Amino acid sequence: MKRFLQWTSILMAVALVTAFVPAAPFSSMADETAPAPDRTDVRNGWIDENLGPGVARWVDKNGNISDQPGKAEKESQGSSSEETKEHKSQEQKTEDSSQESSTNETASEESGQAETQPAETGRQIDPNRPMVALTFDDGPYAPVGNQIMDSLAQYGGKATFFVVGSRAAAYETELKRMVAEGHEIGNHTFDHKYLNRLNGAQIQSEINRCNDAVFAATGVRPQLVRLPGGNKNQTVLQNVKAPMIMWSIDTLDWKTRNTNKTIQSVLTKVRDGDIVLMHELYPQTGAAALEIIPKLTQAGYQLVTVSELAQYRGGVVPGGVYSQFYR
Ligand SMILES: [Zn+2]
Repeated sequence: MKRFLQWTSILMAVALVTAFVPAAPFSSMADETAPAPDRTDVRNGWIDENLGPGVARWVDKNGNISDQPGKAEKESQGSSSEETKEHKSQEQKTEDSSQESSTNETASEESGQAETQPAETGRQIDPNRPMVALTFDDGPYAPVGNQIMDSLAQYGGKATFFVVGSRAAAYETELKRMVAEGHEIGNHTFDHKYLNRLNGAQIQSEINRCNDAVFAATGVRPQLVRLPGGNKNQTVLQNVKAPMIMWSIDTLDWKTRNTNKTIQSVLTKVRDGDIVLMHELYPQTGAAALEIIPKLTQAGYQLVTVSELAQYRGGVVPGGVYSQFYR
C-alpha cells in the first residue's frame, strides 16, 4: 500500500508539471514545423509569419496581437463613410458614362457575359496596349477597399478582389460597390483554410460556401479562385473546378507592411500581362495602391480585371492554373 501511494504521488507530480508546460506555444499551430517566436518578445512584427497572409498575426509596438484586420468590426462602424464615398463615385460615374452609353450596350450584348459581368460604363480595352491585373486578397475590408476603388474610379481602372466568404456579410455594401463599378470578385475560400490540408469534400465546401456568400451579398457568383497561400496538391487540383489564379508579381505587402516597398516591388518589375498580388487588409497597401494606380496608368498600362486580361490573352479553362497572361 505504501509503495502504491508513492507511485501515485509521483504520477500526480508528473501530471501537474505537464499541465503547466504547454506542448506548443499555440495549440492550433502544433503542426507547423518552424518554431514560432515567443509572443512576448515580438514588437512591430509577426509572431507566426510562416503561416502567411490572412493567417499570420501582427504584434504592434505595445504587444497587442491583431488577428486579421477588420475581422471583428461590424459594418455599421464604417457604413456611413462607406455610403458617402459610394454615392460620390456613383455621381462621378454617371457623368463620365453618359456620353458613351450606347457603345456599352452593344459591347455587353456581343460578349454574352451580361449575367456575370455588370453593365460597363463605356470603358474600352485596347487589346494591343499593355495591360495588368491588380489583385487584392483576404478582404473585403471597406476602409482599404474603398480607397482602392476611389483611385481606380479616378483613373478608369478595374481590379480583382479575391474575397473570403466568411467576411462577405459584414461588408455587403463594399461588395456591392465592387460589382457596380465593374471590378471582379474572385473566390478566396469561405474561411481562408489552406486547401492542401483538406479532403475533396471539404475543398469543394470551402469554394461553394464562398461563392454562395458572395452571391447572397451581390447577386454575382465568382468565376475565379485564388488558393489561400497559393497552396495546392493533387486533391486541390482535382476538386477546384474553376480556373485557379496565381500571380507573377508578389509584392509581399502583408509581410513588409511598407508602402514604399510595395510600390517599388510593382513598378520595378511590371510588364504586360502581369498579375500583381496584394492584400486588402492593410492601410499601407491602400496607400501603395494610390501611387501604383496612377503610375501604371501614366506608364500606359490598362488596369483590367483578371477575367478581362484572360479574355484578351488566350482565355482560361475550368481547373486550369494561371500565374500571368503574357503575350
Ligand atoms: Zn489569402
